[in-house]
Amino acid sequence: MITIGVLGLQGAVPEHIQALEASGVQGIIVKRVEQLAEIDGLIIPGGESTAIRKLMDRYGFIEPLKQVAEQGMPIFGTCAGLILLAKKLEGYETSHIGVFDVTVERNSFGRQKDSFEAELRIKGLADPFVGVFIRAPHIVAVGENVEVLAEHNGRIVAAKTAQFLGCSFHPELTADSRMTEIFIGMVQNHLTKVQA
Ligand code: GLN
Repeated sequence: MITIGVLGLQGAVPEHIQALEASGVQGIIVKRVEQLAEIDGLIIPGGESTAIRKLMDRYGFIEPLKQVAEQGMPIFGTCAGLILLAKKLEGYETSHIGVFDVTVERNSFGRQKDSFEAELRIKGLADPFVGVFIRAPHIVAVGENVEVLAEHNGRIVAAKTAQFLGCSFHPELTADSRMTEIFIGMVQNHLTKVQA
């Protein structure tokens, strides 16, 4: 059975575990670096990227996460998770894990719209997906091998490579598990490759 970890330092952790289990895979909460060895893919949840970063430093996660990413582990970042994965952050000198070839801007949807829902057209999904945006970032630019999956008001809000998936919104806060399923598909493809 596929096991997918959810980084459990801060943020929307149980909701992601539920979405994984609803999609028929095992979800485990990752709180220690050693647990990275037990999982086939990792979700970095939404929350507050600066708070999650501080805890990542406290528990020594940054280097091990860079390492598993380099070894090919699929990683899905939602909202703050997308910020943590991005190679470049608009207005900042440095990134966090810095492995997903996108430039991300934080808190991009304005104060009056701190939280909102929007119907999105997502590449690969037949029907619209309701995105829940909470002080959401957006993707300003994507690198060469990055596929844009969705835009909202002309701004990129979801993108992927074969290894990384990132979105501005919180798919785990709706009962719709199709974004989680896209990620599970990426994990399956990766496992097929390494087992071949
Ligand atoms: N604004 C948050 C940040 O910069 C992200 C918000 C979220 O994850 N819902 O980290």
